[in-house]
Amino acid sequence: MPARFLDGTAVARQIRAELVPRVEAFAAARGRPPGLGIVLVGDDPGSEIYVRNKLKSAAETGLRADLERLAASSSLDSLLEVVSRLNRSADHDGILVQSPLPDGMGPTAEQTVFDAIDPAKDVDGFHAVNVGRLVQNRPSLVPCTPLGIIELLERSGVPIRGARAVVIGRSDIVGKPVAMLLLHRHATVTICHSRTVDLPEVAASADILVAAIGRPGFVTPAFVRPGATIVDVGINRVADRETVERLFGAGSTRLADFDRRGSVVVGDVHPTVASVAGAMTPVPGGVGPLTIAMLLANTLRAAEMAAAH
Ligand code: NAP
Repeated sequence: MPARFLDGTAVARQIRAELVPRVEAFAAARGRPPGLGIVLVGDDPGSEIYVRNKLKSAAETGLRADLERLAASSSLDSLLEVVSRLNRSADHDGILVQSPLPDGMGPTAEQTVFDAIDPAKDVDGFHAVNVGRLVQNRPSLVPCTPLGIIELLERSGVPIRGARAVVIGRSDIVGKPVAMLLLHRHATVTICHSRTVDLPEVAASADILVAAIGRPGFVTPAFVRPGATIVDVGINRVADRETVERLFGAGSTRLADFDRRGSVVVGDVHPTVASVAGAMTPVPGGVGPLTIAMLLANTLRAAEMAAAH
């Protein structure tokens, strides 16, 4: 039997709908909606799309979202000045600095910027204070994609308690925080990475397998225990026809998409996994939509927490 697809678009819609009355209640009580300040440096085409979608979703949910743009040639100091202004702003409860930053800002710029954001407004959950609170299982602002993965699993009825979970990827934005969230929900968690020995064998022990690698179609059926739940976090734009044909086959709709657009977005999980897994998230339409929904949820949460103080 082919895998059940976990519909991230529908779950994200449901979460956004649940936020609307809370946003309205906040606005009625405080005389202003929860506010999000987004900072975009440069003109990376992928970032432009992400930011546009974030602004649109925020507006649809009743939040205020303001975009601050800086030229790609801007200095790190000028970016830190914008962050400092948003930290002091009474209208902004959340701050998001869109990654990646231009190379010219230096290799440690992102960390410097994340450290400069007020932890109470850190809706990306990247500040060391929030990371520490997450590890200690204390209330904190948690990175949006990992939070979205948990929402998707829980709302789809996938049991986490006692499950064996394997996370492939140990990044600060996906792998490590999702592993921590699964652990706090009583999964038995293994984190894998590029030096893991016998990776397919380790992955195939999982009831829940999270792939956050950044390699199109990397997770094949050899990585999958029959009936397992597969969460595909990968967002890989593939602009090479041969790869698309190898993954999806000649005559597939994805190859037709490629021929129309010149590229397609592909996950880290090979499409043939659908014949082995019990459930899996599609790409697109799986984890991706949850990330923005959780950004809005985090902004509202930051606003409510600040108001409660
Ligand atoms: P990242 O920082 O590049 O981390 C990738 C991880 O994969 C690293 O830990 C790396 O191991 C591991 N890895 C790479 N090659 C491997 C291999 N051959 N075998 C085993 N492990 C390997 O990436 P990321 O930021 O976590 O993102 C991962 C993917 O998720 C990307 O496609 C990204 O676009 C996508 N993403 C999606 C969303 C969303 O909203 N859906 C959000 C964020 C990211 P090492 O640590 O050993 O190098």
